Amino acid sequence: MRTPHDGEEPRRAVPRTDVLLADPRLAAATERLGAAIVKAGVAAAQERVRRAEIPPSAAADVALASLPATATSMRRVLNATGVVLHTNLGRAALSAAAVDAVGEAAGATDVELDLATGRRARRGRGALAALAAAVPDAEAVHVVNNGAAALALAAVTHAAAREIVVSRGELVEIGDGFRLPDLLVSAGARLCEVGTTNRTTLADYERAIGSDTALVLKVHPSNFVISGFTSTVPVEALATLGVPLLVDLGSGLLSRHPRLPDEPDAASTLRAGADLVTASGDKLLGGPQCGLVLGRSSLVEPMRRHPMARAMRVDKLTLAALEATVTGPATPTARALATTYGDLRHRAERLAAELARAGLDARAVDSDASVGGGGAPGVVLPSAAVSLPADHHPRLRAATPPVLGRLRDHRCLLDLIAVDPADDALLAAAVRSLAG
Ligand SMILES: *Cc1c(COP(=O)(O)O)cnc(C)c1O
Repeated sequence: MRTPHDGEEPRRAVPRTDVLLADPRLAAATERLGAAIVKAGVAAAQERVRRAEIPPSAAADVALASLPATATSMRRVLNATGVVLHTNLGRAALSAAAVDAVGEAAGATDVELDLATGRRARRGRGALAALAAAVPDAEAVHVVNNGAAALALAAVTHAAAREIVVSRGELVEIGDGFRLPDLLVSAGARLCEVGTTNRTTLADYERAIGSDTALVLKVHPSNFVISGFTSTVPVEALATLGVPLLVDLGSGLLSRHPRLPDEPDAASTLRAGADLVTASGDKLLGGPQCGLVLGRSSLVEPMRRHPMARAMRVDKLTLAALEATVTGPATPTARALATTYGDLRHRAERLAAELARAGLDARAVDSDASVGGGGAPGVVLPSAAVSLPADHHPRLRAATPPVLGRLRDHRCLLDLIAVDPADDALLAAAVRSLAG
């Protein structure tokens, strides 16, 4: 317990706010972060002086050290969960090329202007051209805010007050209580459910199709698997039904991925006869959150011109990141999928040895990683992890930077598949900080 000193008035000792804010380093921080954040840091430091946790002379240093790197309360974290596309961690990590592109587009930019003529030009034409070039099987492309918006725009444009025929095995909840059937109905379409949860045949679709059928919809089950006595109808067969076929891919692969042979991609799906495909930009494509629409011009163009398209318009930062994702070097998602078990095991052993030398109970173990809710359900990616005592799991969330692992068999696993190898040193430092 602290003993009060005779004659000392603790409040006197607290440095004044204006004096602290005049510290050149805190003044510079105010320029960079804004007054509110710096004042909050100063107030917290003053409170610690008041409680005699720090001497008055340390207030400025402590306030400075408490300030975030940027003016967002969002923190960069290390994804050591072993889930490559983790929805709670913002799904795909952007490539350095995409981050640079976002910086370039952040100020005034020619997003909707042709610099050669000085006239208005198609918004985001660079990103759209990149997407079209990446999927030559698509006659036309369009981009909206996310995958759900792409699907809703397709429904409101092509199936308002009409029917969408869909298999009962594909009525998907995408997360956080949001369900695709509800989305389609709220866009004004009626659903005609066919088949059963586990089996749907071409005859089921044939029987359901009538004069009021606007679309046949096939949804890729991107976050679950139905196994056992099952059957679904392939795109090739659905394309023979004589009704426009919309395929919601979800995962956003533009072309086949050798490691994910069962994951559908836009090019193959269009070649198989789909008239329209929709997908997310921040799943396996590895880009920013957005919704991709690819397919026949006769279906894409009315979507682009529909009044609702304006309410789903994608911003310039997203367009910049999307273009760089499609044309640029391999994304962090692609690199995670390309990493071999051998590489991961080697990194895990090196990190575990380093942490063990620092006195931690750390060892390298094998781990089962996954793609995540963004695609390839059920696919196990052989990976490696640093195994730590379970009590490290919550404490690592408070480290700098926060490290998100997962619990297995009463141990905290830090799976390396979704950690950039360039961040291994940062990961080790965050873990080591728990030892001290
Ligand atoms: C993820 C997903 C969606 C929703 O996409 P968002 O980009 O999250 O809006 C829709 N359909 C399928 C099949 C999905 O996997």
